[in-house]
Amino acid sequence: MKKTYQFRLKLQPKEWKRMHNQLELSKNFYNELLQRMENNYKKDKTTKVSKKTFNRIKQEVFIEHPEYRKLYSQVADDISRRVLRAYQNFFRRLKEGAKEKGFPRPKNYYKSITYPQNNGSFIIKGNKLKVSKIGTMKIYLHRQIEGSIKTMTIKRDRLNRFYATFSVEYDKPRVQEKREEKAIGIDMGIHSLIAMSDGTAIENPKFLKESEKRLALYQRRMSGMQKGSNRRRRQRRKVAKIHQKIADQRNDFMDKLTTNLTKTYTSFAVENLQINNMLQNHNLAKSITDASWGIFIRKLSCKAESANLKVIGVQPQDTSRRCSNCGAEKEMPLSERVYRCDSCHLKIDRDINASINILQKATTVGHTGSQARGGDLRLTGAVSNETRTNPANAGEAHTL
Ligand SMILES: [Zn+2]
Repeated sequence: MKKTYQFRLKLQPKEWKRMHNQLELSKNFYNELLQRMENNYKKDKTTKVSKKTFNRIKQEVFIEHPEYRKLYSQVADDISRRVLRAYQNFFRRLKEGAKEKGFPRPKNYYKSITYPQNNGSFIIKGNKLKVSKIGTMKIYLHRQIEGSIKTMTIKRDRLNRFYATFSVEYDKPRVQEKREEKAIGIDMGIHSLIAMSDGTAIENPKFLKESEKRLALYQRRMSGMQKGSNRRRRQRRKVAKIHQKIADQRNDFMDKLTTNLTKTYTSFAVENLQINNMLQNHNLAKSITDASWGIFIRKLSCKAESANLKVIGVQPQDTSRRCSNCGAEKEMPLSERVYRCDSCHLKIDRDINASINILQKATTVGHTGSQARGGDLRLTGAVSNETRTNPANAGEAHTL
């Protein structure tokens, strides 16, 4: 099984500069490759990149720009893979008949570099981390790494702090504590952040809402400032800070929420959402919700896997239109907060109704999860004819 550990790096100014330069170099290398791939495509219009062509392009770059030799070879390989992937996606979009959406865009900020093999290119010794082509630096090892380290990624956050992330493989614990099967359906709510078949609706926590409001305000202010001015630069720093704060807060919140869930339940039925659809959304509030959902699913799956629990993805079609009690269907405009069934007179929060449907789908037809087994899921939340959530107090994940 896999697990990741993240540790902050304590860098001296000189080390910070070196790290920064590596990321700049990586960015330039990425953009250079990207540009040449674009030129190549424009020349021969082929929607397939052969390894030979790509390697030739790469060699040309190294010959014309020897400075890229300062990148550790496997880091350069990893960057190449990222470019190749961007182009494969681009070609796939073209083949799917989508209108030409433009070429993969160059990056103006590079966030991470990956050392894909634990072959001596990075070594932890005491509280020091030695990295090939970068040097030795201090690392805050606040917990013990268990298992064998496979890869390392150096990451930079919006506040220019650096972290080392290690991907580790470890053996499944042999002894499994026996737990009573308890399943739950989870829906990405429309009016709540997350709604669950046990009747809990989780709102975006207040502190996050406040940070998001402040972000919008700061961004508005920044756009009113003159480009290139000192005031604008200072404001941009403020925006970056609040962005990072939101990311940290959300991470924390989702960590607590998913930990609680995996302690309480043994199977999770969730919406199988198309990431592509989500990325096309340009509305800020919506994109923040989508990002939260993505983090939630990732954390839940990760924790479920280490605890040997099941996550089952179901198709979300009709889950909001269907009555979770009698199966009748009706139109549910987005503005409706409450589902009122004309047939059985069920009255229930719309998102909770959807989450119960998701759970029911998982028990009947939705065995799309890799570990899904039929028949052992059961409905935990009894359906009542009342709306079971009070949005005023449902926001605290800690009360789960
Ligand atoms: Zn009904």
